[in-house]
Amino acid sequence: MIVGERKPFSEILSMVEGDSKILILGCGSCVTVCMAGGEEEVKILGSQLRMAFRRNGNNAEVTELVALRQCDDEYLEDTPLIEKVKDADIVISMACGVGVQHASTFFNRVIDDKTIRVVPALNTTFMGANIDVGEWHERCLGCGDCVLEKTGGICPITRCAKSLLNGPCGGSFNGKCEVNKDTDCAWHLIIERLEALGELDNLKKIEMYKDWRPSHSGGPRKTVREDMKI
Ligand code: SF4
Ligand code: SF4
Repeated sequence: MIVGERKPFSEILSMVEGDSKILILGCGSCVTVCMAGGEEEVKILGSQLRMAFRRNGNNAEVTELVALRQCDDEYLEDTPLIEKVKDADIVISMACGVGVQHASTFFNRVIDDKTIRVVPALNTTFMGANIDVGEWHERCLGCGDCVLEKTGGICPITRCAKSLLNGPCGGSFNGKCEVNKDTDCAWHLIIERLEALGELDNLKKIEMYKDWRPSHSGGPRKTVREDMKI
């Protein structure tokens, strides 16, 4: 899942200064699970804004809504939602950075009589897993060429502080990373796992450096599934 954290309130408040109709739009997917931008967090931000406005004698109107996903047209093509967006001076999106951009593009495509301003309420941090209650850890950098089958299911790119692809740097101590003593050395974990799997020979295969260019023609990566196109 994509993990995010809410921005400090003062930063969000500064984005809506001067606006009188504010729509807070939550996202019902990843950021709901990591408790950063779902229904509850929308309500909390709405209450904080109303309180701050009241204190300042500001009559700004705050409306709250949640779309199941902001990164998919299907969940934004909702007439009442589009009407609310049209009516607002600004939309505070509580989705990840993908959702903020997609919602902004979508609303500006379907609403032609004004330009819609969509601003982020979250800092999108990483793709990660839920490790404990209230704790998420980064697990994938989306490198586009997964090597987990060779590394016992542990990602060296994400979990090694130096993103080493061909074994440890030699600096680990008692299984901990030399860069951060609280973090397990990814290569220590990989070697232990490969040993348990009987796959230590994987270490003899040299993994070539990655082509980190987003795509050979430049620009952001795309996935196109021709079989799903209508
Ligand atoms: S190798 Fe690591 S960063 Fe690349 S896709 Fe696999 S898990 Fe993600
Ligand atoms: S100690 Fe381990 S995790 Fe840390 S940088 Fe070296 S190989 Fe990577």
